[in-house]
Amino acid sequence: CGVFGVTGVAEAANFVALGLHALQHRGQEAGGIVAYDAADGFNSVRRFGYVRDNFTKASLMETLPGSLAIGHVRYSTAGSKGHTALRDVQPFFGEFSMGGCAIAHNGNLTNAAALRRELIEHGSIFQSSSDSECIIHLMARSIQKNLSERIKDALRRVEGAFSVVAMTRTKLIGVRDALGVRPLVLGRIGDKGYVLSSETCGLDIIGAEFVREIEPGEMVVISDGKVESTRPFGNSKGRFCVFEHVYFSRPDSIIGGRSVYETRYQIGRELAAESPVEADLVCPVPDSGTPAAVGYSHASGIPFAFGIVRNQYVGRTFIEPTDQIRNMGVRLKLNVNRALIRGKRVILVDDSVVRGTTSKKIKDMILDAGAAEVHFRIASPPTAWPCFYGVDTPDRDKLLAARMTEDEMRDWIGVDSLRFVSLDGLYRAAGEARGRDAVCPQFCDACFSGEYPVAPSDQLDRGFQM
Ligand code: 5GP
Ligand code: SF4
Ligand code: MG
Repeated sequence: CGVFGVTGVAEAANFVALGLHALQHRGQEAGGIVAYDAADGFNSVRRFGYVRDNFTKASLMETLPGSLAIGHVRYSTAGSKGHTALRDVQPFFGEFSMGGCAIAHNGNLTNAAALRRELIEHGSIFQSSSDSECIIHLMARSIQKNLSERIKDALRRVEGAFSVVAMTRTKLIGVRDALGVRPLVLGRIGDKGYVLSSETCGLDIIGAEFVREIEPGEMVVISDGKVESTRPFGNSKGRFCVFEHVYFSRPDSIIGGRSVYETRYQIGRELAAESPVEADLVCPVPDSGTPAAVGYSHASGIPFAFGIVRNQYVGRTFIEPTDQIRNMGVRLKLNVNRALIRGKRVILVDDSVVRGTTSKKIKDMILDAGAAEVHFRIASPPTAWPCFYGVDTPDRDKLLAARMTEDEMRDWIGVDSLRFVSLDGLYRAAGEARGRDAVCPQFCDACFSGEYPVAPSDQLDRGFQM
């Protein structure tokens, strides 16, 4: 998901709409905005679909007055899937004795099922199926006198990944979990405005200036043009999601001082060094494989070409939650550039293989177009473990790499060769070295390594074996 908030600007909701539009790649199912205005109180709008189709209408934006607003774009990793329940669309809102509070959450809480059971037993009435709603109910049970203290109390009880943007009548609040698994950055706009955004591309779109990242375990409370920082959740070095670098974040975003595009480009170079093959063309599987394909082409000297063309009017396929839609999605989205491919030995570069659906369909399409050979190069290691921290990977038995060796995967997909970048190569591309820190790796890489930095306790309760 994507979260965004702004304070200290006129018509804050318009800025939030723009920010969410820049973060649309993080969630395309639905979006919501909450704004506060002293005369008008809290107002909210939640809608299915794209930000641009909902939050650009003047009539609608007029219902969200005020200089303080937050928003969320949703990609379901917990709770209901797809276009089914508007009540699962964030921000969530709670009315407390000291005023209202709205919350937008990116990440996944790994103990939400246990918390929900406990909260329901104690009288909480849940409105949604979302893990994030627990935060509001935990706040209601806190005895703290102000809302930011209540947010702290609530977030001390949850486990897993959270980058949260919240607002009260007067404050904009940003929090990251102790490991900082999901991103969150702070920006400035105008004389006294502040912005919180999942990624820096959300700052760029409104002309805000990047200040810094919210640190792992940090909470910032912004009011009256001042930023107050505390560290309620410990002081760890963090385990940022390495898959944000590979796929999830936008390539024009900067994370940890490093361009996401640059990392992806370097992954391509690593792949070319680790797994060379003779071929006529290097083609990306657009758009997610494009920067790595450029890197592969530059490092190998094999010409780059757009052998697959993407229909720009279709979103990210993986994010469509059912298999049926996902299966169709590949053809709706991608088509082979036949004239270019015929008779050629083609290297296809994609970011990841999850179920293998995409790779298999693309292989069919490319052989259909008369390619002489097809070689897949994947810009991440085999995805052998599910993510429980906010990326919607399927159960382990649906992951191709959990069931097959690399050679079996190659045969199942039906290509001449299939190679993944090594985990060490991925770290090198991101400017790190896995294991340089003797205690633990610098990133979360659990979906590749099976080393979960936070025990996924709900899943363990359900019998998941680490
Ligand atoms: P598959 O078809 O193997 O199940 O999925 C792999 C494709 O899904 C890749 O092309 C990748 O770009 C795309 N993808 C989109 N979203 C995600 C995501 O959240 N996780 C992963 N692992 N892959 C995703
Ligand atoms: Fe990111 Fe994978 Fe860790 Fe999930 S398991 S947070 S996708 S690195
Ligand atoms: Mg893709």
